[in-house]
Amino acid sequence: MSSSEKYDCIVIGAGMSGLASGIRLAMYDKKVLILERHTISGGLNSYYARGKRKFDVGLHALTNFVGPKDKGKPFNKLMKQLRIPYDDFKLSPQNYSLISFPDKKLKFTNDINCLVQEINELFPDQVDGFINLLNHVKNFDEVNLNNETVMAKTVVRHFISNESLVEMIFCPLLIYGSAWENDMDFSQFVIMFKSIFLEGFSRPEGGVRTIINLLHQKLESLGASIRYKACVSKILTENNKIIGVEINDNEIIYCDKILSSMGLPETFDVVNDSDFFKKYPKPNIGKLTFCESILITDKKPKELGIDATIIFYNNRPEYLYQSPTTLFDRESGVLCFPNNFNYQNNNTYNDDYSEGVLRVTNIANFELWNQLKMGPNKEQYLEAKEQVFLNAKKILSASGLNQDYQILFKDIFTPTTIKRYTSHYGGVVYGSSDKSRNGKTPIDGLFICGTDQGFLGIVGSMLSGISMANLHVLQGDS
Ligand SMILES: Cc1cc2nc3c(=O)[nH]c(=O)nc-3n(C[C@H](O)[C@H](O)[C@H](O)COP(=O)(O)OP(=O)(O)OC[C@H]3O[C@@H](n4cnc5c(N)ncnc54)[C@H](O)[C@@H]3O)c2cc1C
Repeated sequence: MSSSEKYDCIVIGAGMSGLASGIRLAMYDKKVLILERHTISGGLNSYYARGKRKFDVGLHALTNFVGPKDKGKPFNKLMKQLRIPYDDFKLSPQNYSLISFPDKKLKFTNDINCLVQEINELFPDQVDGFINLLNHVKNFDEVNLNNETVMAKTVVRHFISNESLVEMIFCPLLIYGSAWENDMDFSQFVIMFKSIFLEGFSRPEGGVRTIINLLHQKLESLGASIRYKACVSKILTENNKIIGVEINDNEIIYCDKILSSMGLPETFDVVNDSDFFKKYPKPNIGKLTFCESILITDKKPKELGIDATIIFYNNRPEYLYQSPTTLFDRESGVLCFPNNFNYQNNNTYNDDYSEGVLRVTNIANFELWNQLKMGPNKEQYLEAKEQVFLNAKKILSASGLNQDYQILFKDIFTPTTIKRYTSHYGGVVYGSSDKSRNGKTPIDGLFICGTDQGFLGIVGSMLSGISMANLHVLQGDS
């Protein structure tokens, strides 16, 4: 079956990057169609319901928090490109976050001076080096698509000689945005440093749904369409040029260009050229994936002694950001307390959770989870999930959460859940370690956006969708 309509551009995936690129293209009257294999949008940053309760999957915090008047900053550039008013995001800033290591805790807020002061108190001989690093980061052009790959720890060690401090600085930046184990490209380090330490965390009232609803409303107002349950099974080419896609193994849709947010290896695997991988190297499949425990409690975290918004917990002297050899890493995790954004500070937006919400994310091993999931004994998979939950309670307690609470509901998701809902090989959250920073592929008219272009996270992937649409479709560069 083939459709008679031909599109200027097909966008594969209705995650954050796909939705943002669709808006940008429709805004400039391109005939655009977004194809999504699932029944809802969001991809890695989606939502689900259990009974009356609603859960976010990929939103601990929105990075890159700035006020509405900070014009040149990524979040406001994003709002400008999407033509969505800043206030519609209903952002409340974080209270504060902690980087918690066995013998030291560093506090940071959306004001970098807090972190400078903390480093001055805990690592007085390193503070000058940190300030120099800060200046280097501020002056670095991290989004230049031609930047060479340089490993960030080597650069940072020019400024900071204390390894404990290096590990503490890298901890939040790695777990919130690195496809590499234990280190990252320096450009990516700067993106993460600015978005987390120099700008900071916030949460939209209503969580992920608020973001997705705003993007949907915009798409609708521009007349762009999304087709759900539309799995791209083939990318069709002729003479190394895009001609269209096949969906659900039976329908062909023609187009001039494709922006794919499926991931680099996932995209290349559906190109209908049997010699493709003889001509081009196969991109790596990433290794970094997570499991997460979500606990709904009768008391909010503040009543239980925790007023931090996010705690980056690590119980070793060094921080192991790598695929563990066990199902999940018991000694580190990100603790997120969505009730603890500073809702009362701006007096406009509310904590939309009436109960306590405690989220604990651990680095996990996809292969081991997959073996359990595919194995004959379902009980073993469920038992392993219970272990994740018990460990989450232990880490919460070690982080100072008073144990005087009742758990009203709990849900645990694993790397196999992430794979099922996003189709990323290995359930990876930050994609392949091979990125296509300029979005180009060896096929004319086929471009990568989102995670495997290299701008990560919610704000990053939206910026990626917009910049790839601008560069490759609106400016016609191919
Ligand atoms: C547990 C967790 C916590 C996170 N926390 C944060 C956070 O606090 N802050 C933050 O900024 N970021 C966070 N992230 C990361 C953030 O959600 C992602 O970086 C971002 O959403 C990626 O968007 P994307 O558009 O690049 O890709 P994706 O979201 O992966 O979108 C790709 C889309 O393509 C679709 N697709 C795949 N194959 C096909 C096909 N063949 N045909 C049609 N459609 C297809 C998928 O279904 C998916 O919808 C988190 C992620 C997770 C999983």
